[in-house]
Amino acid sequence: MSKKKVLITGGAGFLGSHLCDRFIKEGYSVIAMDNLITGDLKNIEHLFKHKDFEFYHHDVSSFVHVPGHLDYILHFASPASPIDYLKIPIQTLKVGSLGTHNLLGLARVKKARILVASTSEIYGDPSVHPQPEEYYGNVNTVGPRGVYDEAKRFQEAITMAYHTYHKLETRIIRIFNTYGPRMRLNDGRVLPAFIGQALRGEDLTIFGDGSQTRSFCYVDDLVEGIYRLLLSEYAYPVNIGNPNEITIKDFAEEIIKLTGTNQKIIYQALPKDDPKQRQPDITKAKSILGWEPKISRAEGLKITYSYFKSLTKEELYHNDHREFENYKK
Ligand code: UDP
Repeated sequence: MSKKKVLITGGAGFLGSHLCDRFIKEGYSVIAMDNLITGDLKNIEHLFKHKDFEFYHHDVSSFVHVPGHLDYILHFASPASPIDYLKIPIQTLKVGSLGTHNLLGLARVKKARILVASTSEIYGDPSVHPQPEEYYGNVNTVGPRGVYDEAKRFQEAITMAYHTYHKLETRIIRIFNTYGPRMRLNDGRVLPAFIGQALRGEDLTIFGDGSQTRSFCYVDDLVEGIYRLLLSEYAYPVNIGNPNEITIKDFAEEIIKLTGTNQKIIYQALPKDDPKQRQPDITKAKSILGWEPKISRAEGLKITYSYFKSLTKEELYHNDHREFENYKK
């Protein structure tokens, strides 16, 4: 019997590359597709020797062709940090909308099941806390995050439409803040920002007063949730994230302790529409998938820190977030 075949878009990115690892480990044949705007071949180079792994350099916002059969599609191609949305807003909109449309079309032709990566960003700056799947969100369509949030909201809508109209097998995961090895050091997200600053001997930059909260999930826990959701029979959105919530100020203190840096915290302006609080309600994931996170923040941060410590000096100092600071103003 031939192996089950899965297409992973955004396969060279942070989450996509971990998914490639997982599906190879589970005995699937894997095609990773990426346009490499924010992805990096370094994340998957260890898989190139594997006979069941292929890489296609392609932008899914243009027509997607894959020869042969496909059993599953995981759509994880998208810029995914506020700095990226400012840098490449049109691509962000296109990959969530046109890209999703192309992949839904491909799923139909191949009679494949498709799982799309949605996000807690669809809840915007939430007025309901923690956020259950039934909460419709509070998003500024024309704010700096609008390009991502609205693309992802459209993505959910078109995915549901293909499910109800074309009877396509679809799955929607809403991903909350996730961290781990292979995060881009310079994508502006808080964890690589703080660890990068500590490693370079710079002060840690807190945006606003640091009272805003996030809930950080270790990547292996997230991948387990994705795997279970894909193989489940549930077509409606499911939150996957770690409900352990922390203020950004306390998080900065944790990173200072972890890295032993002598640097101090400095405060900078809070970016527009930065959500004040975020915590997933994972009741559904628990009851439908039997899933909950297993890896504590202390444990996950230790692994992540050793990854960042292993980067070369060149990688550590190749930090394009500075050039985007001007762009933000
Ligand atoms: N943040 C910060 N300093 C930084 C980068 C981010 O204080 O150098 C804050 C940011 O304003 C936000 C939180 O950390 O409140 C998480 O930011 P991130 O970009 O990681 O993710 P998101 O806002 O999309 O959850």
